[in-house]
Amino acid sequence: MKKEIFLKLKVKLPRIKKNVSLKNFTTYKIGGLAEYFFVAKSKEDLMGAVKIAKEFKWPIFILGGGSNLLISDKGLKGLVIKMDILGIEFKGNKVYAGAGTDLTNLAYSSLDNGLSGLEWAAGIPSATIGGAVYGNAQAFGTRISDNIKSVEALDLKTLRIINFNKNQCAFSLKNSIFKKNKKLVIISVILELKTNNKKEIAEKIKEHLAHRKKGHPVNFPSAGSTFVNPEKKIIDKRLLKKYPELKNFNERGIIPAGYLIQKTGLQGKIIGGAQISPMHANFIVNIKNAKAKDVLTLIKLAQKKVKKTFGILLEAEVQFIGF
Ligand SMILES: Cc1cc2nc3c(=O)[nH]c(=O)nc-3n(C[C@H](O)[C@H](O)[C@H](O)COP(=O)(O)OP(=O)(O)OC[C@H]3O[C@@H](n4cnc5c(N)ncnc54)[C@H](O)[C@@H]3O)c2cc1C
Repeated sequence: MKKEIFLKLKVKLPRIKKNVSLKNFTTYKIGGLAEYFFVAKSKEDLMGAVKIAKEFKWPIFILGGGSNLLISDKGLKGLVIKMDILGIEFKGNKVYAGAGTDLTNLAYSSLDNGLSGLEWAAGIPSATIGGAVYGNAQAFGTRISDNIKSVEALDLKTLRIINFNKNQCAFSLKNSIFKKNKKLVIISVILELKTNNKKEIAEKIKEHLAHRKKGHPVNFPSAGSTFVNPEKKIIDKRLLKKYPELKNFNERGIIPAGYLIQKTGLQGKIIGGAQISPMHANFIVNIKNAKAKDVLTLIKLAQKKVKKTFGILLEAEVQFIGF
């Protein structure tokens, strides 16, 4: 690394490392090497690293907790910036959180402050609030967008810091402006929660944790749900007769992706070290040193079979990086 460049850019010599394995930074425990790797602990760190990447014309990838990622076995060229800007601050029913704040920690801190709204998020392993806002994370009928007041982000093109109010975040199902426009890095978030009885909040968290433990394959590495549950209705009479549960899903306007995969007979299918979980068909799990290509092959197979059986193309929720 050339020292003159850092001096020229008037940024502190950042702790940029070379050839760092990304395996240990994803919940899948899959991924090749990052050519350059940097942990951003402050806004200044982030800005400094971005300026250097721009100077060297390195592509930038922003890493949160790595709980929604499938990173290529070939690794990533350029600079991976791991967001570790932390900090939680409560003011009345509002809470400020740095983008790298752990979502489960935030849910428990909110409980300690008698604030409700994040109970659904407790127990999601390794996720950050930045990653949750990016993909509008949700569970048990609540989305992170339900509690967002504003988001502070860095525009990688102009290097300006922009504050987005909730409307400007353009939230929709598993989506946001930050996902649509890859040039924005979330720095911090302000949430607005509701005051509630701590006992009630704790009960809700307990219920959700029990549900996850019972229904999700938590003993194997994964990235959570592989596909978005499609907001679709199936009207084909032949399919409705063969799969009567579809009527209920039609009424709700959303079909569980796991159900569709299960009905194709793929549940339990193994390719290399990856498996469509026998416990929950929307989870692909790393059962034995899986490669990214094993997971990807299962994803494509599930998409192909579900499309053939139900005419629906499943949209991957997991983000593919470096393919
Ligand atoms: C066991 C398990 C259970 C899960 N359960 C749920 C669930 O119930 N509901 C749910 O919605 N998800 C769930 N997930 C998926 C995942 O935890 C969430 O999507 C989470 O919000 C991702 O956050 P992350 O910090 O890990 O993001 P990462 O996986 O690191 O990144 C995901 C995307 O967000 C981008 N990103 C991350 N941080 C920033 C930032 N600061 N600025 C800009 N872009 C950023 C990355 O570039 C990447 O494109 C689960 C995952 C696991 C492993």
